[in-house]
Amino acid sequence: MAKIIRASNAKTNVPSVPKKPTKRGAKAVPKAKKSPKPKPWTPAEIHEAFSRFRKANPEPKGELEHLNPYTLLVAVVLSAQATDAGVNKATRALFAVADTPEKMLALGEDKVRDYIRTIGLYRNKAKNVIALSQKLIDEFGGEVPRTRAEIESLPGAGRKTANVVLNMAYGEHTMAVDTHVFRVGNRTGLASGNSPLAVELGLEKVIPPEFMRHAHHWLILHGRYTCLARKPRCEVCLINDLCRWPEKTV
Ligand code: SF4
Repeated sequence: MAKIIRASNAKTNVPSVPKKPTKRGAKAVPKAKKSPKPKPWTPAEIHEAFSRFRKANPEPKGELEHLNPYTLLVAVVLSAQATDAGVNKATRALFAVADTPEKMLALGEDKVRDYIRTIGLYRNKAKNVIALSQKLIDEFGGEVPRTRAEIESLPGAGRKTANVVLNMAYGEHTMAVDTHVFRVGNRTGLASGNSPLAVELGLEKVIPPEFMRHAHHWLILHGRYTCLARKPRCEVCLINDLCRWPEKTV
């Protein structure tokens, strides 16, 4: 029977490895130039940037339509992987008939599903809306709770939902990081990070408390209307002299 020779231990089958060039004969391969790390923002620059945002829009508002903390919570849960405009279109009619957990339960999952049919993942979201309404009644007296852990315990609600509800309904200094805030934080260099949580914590660390109430909305609106994903409008950007993005077009 033919002897099987395995490449790993067959001396004769070891492929010839090209010899490393000796130091003396080696040609120096030029190293790729690293672009210099942008300078971190100074506290004065951060104050200046948010002062400009505040001056331009002293009372920024979120774009998700709602009537009370409960409908805000439902709207945020429905907004996962959907646009605010798309959610508003569906919730206008839904909230007209169900603006409390009790009314939502009375409406029932099938009808909720019909109202939100135009929103992505609507089947699962209808389930969550009913389940979170039930939990609010069973465990929180029908009210939206005021702590992050309690909000995150609701079906369909995660950290971003808790941050939005705590900020918009209860005025807490939270920073919800959506796709826009994530991009703006990284591009500008205000808070770099490869996860929403890293950017959230980075922004919380550098933004002065006097701006934290509205910082989340200023950054969302900045990302949505100025610092666009594909073609940022750097020429009309309020903070273009401060932004650290090497690819900015001004
Ligand atoms: S300068 Fe350009 S990249 Fe920088 S924040 Fe403004 S729009 Fe965004």
